[in-house]
Amino acid sequence: MIIFQRCIFKRVLQQFYAGSQETSGSLLRGLPTLNGHRSESNLAGVRERTLIAVKPDGVQRRLVGQIIQRFELRGFKLVGLKMLQVSEDLLSRHYSQLTGKPFYPDLVKYMTSGPVVVMVWEGYNAVQTSRAMVGLTNPADAQAGTVRGDFSIHVSRNVVHASDSPEGAQKEIQLWFQGQELLNWDCCYHNITCEL
Ligand code: UDP
Ligand code: MG
Repeated sequence: MIIFQRCIFKRVLQQFYAGSQETSGSLLRGLPTLNGHRSESNLAGVRERTLIAVKPDGVQRRLVGQIIQRFELRGFKLVGLKMLQVSEDLLSRHYSQLTGKPFYPDLVKYMTSGPVVVMVWEGYNAVQTSRAMVGLTNPADAQAGTVRGDFSIHVSRNVVHASDSPEGAQKEIQLWFQGQELLNWDCCYHNITCEL
């Protein structure tokens, strides 16, 4: 409660000095707006998006809930989610840089062996933080505490995918999701997990 009051007080002061037109109603709700003193670039930083997918082994092993929970608890916001059976065509576009690798045929078998759950998570530094949460590609090298380090042992069954750069994330999100499948919604924790 004290933290909440401090947040409100701080925002009131910010508004006072910035001379913004924001109403006391929206101050209390603490919802982000595109008006007022916050710049578009600030919002872009805290609204970075990344693509996370629970691969077929993760779905079969009923790890979907635990993986979602890690991202929720960390503070990211879920803006897209669906379960699907991946086609070879979609996979070859997703892994376009890997199609020439010796392990690619096995990767196709693995990734098309059952449904995947694909998600878009949003928040500050989403791509880099997610990669750290997911851990190194080879679970043998992945640290305990990461998804791969906790739930997998072999590179061919490493449970989860995470975009590796903001540019890659943008491409992957466009590949896996239609625009209308992603929701822009206001999370009441937004101001508590990030300074805007
Ligand atoms: N992979 C594999 N054998 C390898 C390297 C990669 O089966 O020697 C698979 C593994 O599932 C990995 C995916 O190919 O997650 C994509 O590889 P990438 O190098 O992009 O790793 P990631 O970005 O997933 O960590
Ligand atoms: Mg990759």
